[in-house]
Amino acid sequence: MENFVRPVLTLPDSAERLLLHSCCAPCSGEVMEALHASGIDYTVFFYNPNIHPKREYLIRKEENIRFAEQHNVPFVDADYDSDNWFERAKGMEWEPERGVRCTMCFDMRFERTALYAYENNFSMISSSLGISRWKNMQQINDCGIRAASQYPGVKYWDYNWRKQGGSARMIEISKRERFYQQEYCGCIYSLRDSNKHRKSHGRDIIRIGVKYYGDDDTEGAC
Ligand code: SF4
Repeated sequence: MENFVRPVLTLPDSAERLLLHSCCAPCSGEVMEALHASGIDYTVFFYNPNIHPKREYLIRKEENIRFAEQHNVPFVDADYDSDNWFERAKGMEWEPERGVRCTMCFDMRFERTALYAYENNFSMISSSLGISRWKNMQQINDCGIRAASQYPGVKYWDYNWRKQGGSARMIEISKRERFYQQEYCGCIYSLRDSNKHRKSHGRDIIRIGVKYYGDDDTEGAC
């Protein structure tokens, strides 16, 4: 995207800094560079107890830490309370992607983000989750707004990170950085369903930790 000009962003409500929930390096790469280019003061908040197995979680987190360090951005490494996630997912094991299990999953991640924002004087939160075309942006925004509304003085910024070339830049940055390319959304159920789909199409099942952007022309599936 040689002629790409990033829009200059400003935080709503004259907020001075942003707590950015990040789901992974590929999704947050463009968001972070857009914030950086606009001179917005932000901190990355990594809270994703949905990711399974732990090896996959650690790979995704380490990639994100590396990129944050490269940009001198503070990175908050929150808890991997996966038992809590599994407890909340009970009864939703067979729900499809973008269904109620995903609403629970987004709620959980935003609730922790909003709590941290409240306790640490951030008045604005947002997330990289919405940049992926695999996600339902309205579902994500509803969860973000719901979580922020529980804490006085905290608001959710529903900026559409996909627009004005954001989606294409996300792929471009992922290839430039040779980010790890996850091949399923994150939870054990999305791994199961992705593998089932692959098997039904005669493809090999997912292997954790082997694929990186730029290896071929396929896109990730976060
Ligand atoms: S499919 Fe993705 S968003 Fe939905 S519950 Fe699993 S990890 Fe969370």
